[in-house]
Amino acid sequence: MTIVLATTNKKKVEEIKRMFYGFHIRFLGLDSFPDCPDVKEDGKTFRANAIKKALAVSGHTGCAAIADDSGLEVRALGGAPGVFSARYAGANADDQKNVKKLLSEMKNLKNNDRKARFVCCIVFSLPDGSYKTFTGYVTGLIGEKPKGFNGFGYDPVFYPAGHNRTFAEMTDDEKDSLSHRGRAMKKMYKYLRKNLFLKY
Ligand code: IMP
Repeated sequence: MTIVLATTNKKKVEEIKRMFYGFHIRFLGLDSFPDCPDVKEDGKTFRANAIKKALAVSGHTGCAAIADDSGLEVRALGGAPGVFSARYAGANADDQKNVKKLLSEMKNLKNNDRKARFVCCIVFSLPDGSYKTFTGYVTGLIGEKPKGFNGFGYDPVFYPAGHNRTFAEMTDDEKDSLSHRGRAMKKMYKYLRKNLFLKY
């Protein structure tokens, strides 16, 4: 079976390949399909964006596809930055600018008002238009200043619940074992293992 990963992010491709090592699955990245149309991520939810991306890729390629969408939700900001996480500080935003904007929006918020969660929705879709979604969450607190240099995005300001280090102060393995993406991936892994009977 061939599964097309609807991402050009090499880290995500490698992570999924590692998880399914030994299965009779050939994983291809979007770079193998340069004609695949770009999908506008204009959905109101992570789920809607991930479904849209997965269906566009499985429809175009005629193969099964996996797509994801993720971001940060701060309760006291009504769920912002949410689906706008990657471009919170504007169209040309980068991680540093997004974090700066978040800290500025939260400057008057203390203690429990700094509660937040990361959300990741992963979709597995087939060319016939059927799909299955898997969502993972990790709750925590937004710190008052960035700490640590690992990871990406909002990692330097996110303290997962029960930990006194930010995601950016953790190793990749530590973060994967706690993260929204790791949790959604585990759900998808269990489902595919059970339903595709592909092992060895
Ligand atoms: P995407 O789903 O990879 O496009 O991620 C959207 C945006 O959400 C990223 O650009 C980050 O700003 C934020 N984000 C998603 N997952 C993480 C994470 O694990 N750590 C930090 N930021 C994240």
